[in-house]
Amino acid sequence: MSGISANYYDGQSSKRHAVSIQLDANGMLSIHGDSLSACYPLDEITMAYRIGKRVRMIKLSDGASLEAETTPELDAILDQTKQHKHQGLVHRLESKLKYIVMALLLTIAFAFGFLTWGVPALAKSVAFSLPVETQDYLGEGTMEVFDEYFMQPSKLDKTRQAAIEKRFQALISGLDERDRYELLFRDSEKMGANAFALPSGSIVLTDQFIALAENEKEIDSVLAHEIGHVHFRHSLRGAIQSSSAAVLIALMTGDVASMSSFAATLPTLLVNMNYSRQFETEADNYAKQLMKEKGIEFYHFARILTRLTASHDVADDDDSLNFLSSHPSTKERIKSFQ
Ligand SMILES: [Zn+2]
Repeated sequence: MSGISANYYDGQSSKRHAVSIQLDANGMLSIHGDSLSACYPLDEITMAYRIGKRVRMIKLSDGASLEAETTPELDAILDQTKQHKHQGLVHRLESKLKYIVMALLLTIAFAFGFLTWGVPALAKSVAFSLPVETQDYLGEGTMEVFDEYFMQPSKLDKTRQAAIEKRFQALISGLDERDRYELLFRDSEKMGANAFALPSGSIVLTDQFIALAENEKEIDSVLAHEIGHVHFRHSLRGAIQSSSAAVLIALMTGDVASMSSFAATLPTLLVNMNYSRQFETEADNYAKQLMKEKGIEFYHFARILTRLTASHDVADDDDSLNFLSSHPSTKERIKSFQ
């Protein structure tokens, strides 16, 4: 076989070896001389440049180099090297791109999973492990903002309040956490007929809600539902979920200041919060259990919920203050209580 004549330098000494080079059947650059015989994959030929116009220097991976006269045969070999390298680069980029896309997809999947399952699970464990004082603090702060912007003192007759309070006490009498619960009456044109629970365990009834109720058992049934929300720490969990980033930072840095800014945004969050279907189902099931124990027929809840729906459909344009915006799939829920 005839090859291209070249000089070989081993990279250690300046000694020149006369060799012949050629591409072998495997596409490797093979070098043959009196005292050496070597093969290099084309992509290990890292550099080829011209000295003057006549001679090319070819650097090999092990530090050795070749010097050969520029001939069409040599250029053919070098072209293949270039092509090979180019393909190698494309291949590397392609596989890197694959990794990048895979990493991106993994990140998205992780973020999605974290937000879908991680955050709710985390919110749940945080909500149940927060000290009572913190929950009271959040509840009080929330109530202050509500009182300032959305509500006025109740105009409800004191005896009526006392009667509802008495029934409320009977409702919670057997519960483990009965000390947590507190009933608050407020007047609120803005919120209309509404009932909601705060993280502290306070349950707020608006005068408009009381006016909408046709009997005491209807009020009891809604209270039972709200007690369920408190029992499962739904308002706190929902708020933590909605502002998980802020809370996570607060938890990670132990920054009390950001925790108090969380407290400041809590009322807005509570007002705007869309309770998840899961929360509503949990609260409904809790209410059913409690109503069964206290001898309150389910249809009372179905009836007042129907009326609440109607009252908000007509009266409220502002969805953020709508009882129903926080109570999805109302029709199904009403059905389950009939
Ligand atoms: Zn609810």
